[in-house]
Amino acid sequence: MATAAKSIRPVSDRVTADDDVIRVLIVDDDPPFRRICREYLGEQGPGIYEVYEAGDADAAEVAFAETRFDCVLIDYRLPDTSGTGLMRRLCSVAETAPPMIILTGVGNEDIAMEAVHGGAADYIPKSRVSPQSLHRAVKSSVIRSRLERSVHERTKKLEEANRELHRKTDQIERFYHTISHEIKTPLTAAREFIALVADGTTGQISPQQRETLSLAIDSCDQLAAHVNELIESTRLDTGKMKIVKKSNKIETMIRRSVVSVQPSVQDKNIALKESVDENLPVLNVDGSRIVQVLSNLLANAVKFTEAGGQIRIGAARDSECDDRVRICVTDSGCGISEEHLPLIFDRLYQVNDHGDYLMGVGLGLGLSIAKEIVALHGGTLDVVSDVGQGSTFCVLLPLGDESDDKTPATATT
Ligand code: ADP
Repeated sequence: MATAAKSIRPVSDRVTADDDVIRVLIVDDDPPFRRICREYLGEQGPGIYEVYEAGDADAAEVAFAETRFDCVLIDYRLPDTSGTGLMRRLCSVAETAPPMIILTGVGNEDIAMEAVHGGAADYIPKSRVSPQSLHRAVKSSVIRSRLERSVHERTKKLEEANRELHRKTDQIERFYHTISHEIKTPLTAAREFIALVADGTTGQISPQQRETLSLAIDSCDQLAAHVNELIESTRLDTGKMKIVKKSNKIETMIRRSVVSVQPSVQDKNIALKESVDENLPVLNVDGSRIVQVLSNLLANAVKFTEAGGQIRIGAARDSECDDRVRICVTDSGCGISEEHLPLIFDRLYQVNDHGDYLMGVGLGLGLSIAKEIVALHGGTLDVVSDVGQGSTFCVLLPLGDESDDKTPATATT
């Protein structure tokens, strides 16, 4: 006999909204069986279960709309539909459906398994219903479902936080990019104007004024270098850095990088030596990018080496692997302590506990950019260092294959 919606009643006296109470709906057209189930669950103690009953699918749907159940027990054979049919109906109206347990007759194991595959949390043969089996099945389904829900909610929150993080990172990247470009244009103009005055194009100036203007030009160049590093860093982040590989002679790339640091090498009276092994093949690389990396390593070597010190840049086949070339920059500078060594390739990382750094040159981006450029070529950049003795930074590049020629590689985010 179908139980009318109005006849659905809480069996327990407790009708509070206490979340610890497990609200169970029993859907079965057999009133004595419903009563047995209610009694079995009631035996677990007061305040544990709040049991509702429905005699058919329609009554179950009405009850389902009115109360948030933690578990639904469904007879597989209902007068108006099958247990799985009702399960589907209830799932379709609930945003998050509670676990549903199918009650089967003897010998209905296949049907029960089908129901479990169709989404039922569990099944219990009616013949085996006891206070313990019922309590165990309901309780474990509810606990599992609550855990799943909490994992689901946390995952949703994490996904949301992740989306927000991406949005903010995008904003920061755009901000860097815009600011960098906004600074670069007037900076270039300012440098040109200062150079015009320093050259005497706009009228005679004294040697002292020329020296002052030359310092101003150096400052503009330094600022431009920082802005370029920011732009490069953003390009790497957004995957917009392009690597165009061509055949490049190692000697030429080393020469170009040495030229870029020559003025500061001379200022500090540093002895800079170059050595390139004979018979090294040409490299299939983006020449300007590799020069950028080597110039950066040399500039650091100059920056962190005392006046009168020594720097060496050399290229040779890698002793461990014949199809790689190793280009190393060695200096006799202050060296890097063991604790800082693993961190110096991190973006914005600067070691600020030695005097040279306090001179205030650099953003802590150079090495991170260099490492990524080398990685885009399929190579590695590493360092060995001894405090007080100096450092050696080595770029290891694959000799590659001529067929890669002119293949653009793009940084990925
Ligand atoms: P920056 O442009 O600020 O120098 P880098 O990324 O190029 O940034 O270097 C990061 C840090 O690594 C530097 O602040 C410095 O402490 C350390 N470092 C890099 N090269 C050398 C070197 N040749 N000798 C000693 N320390 C170095």
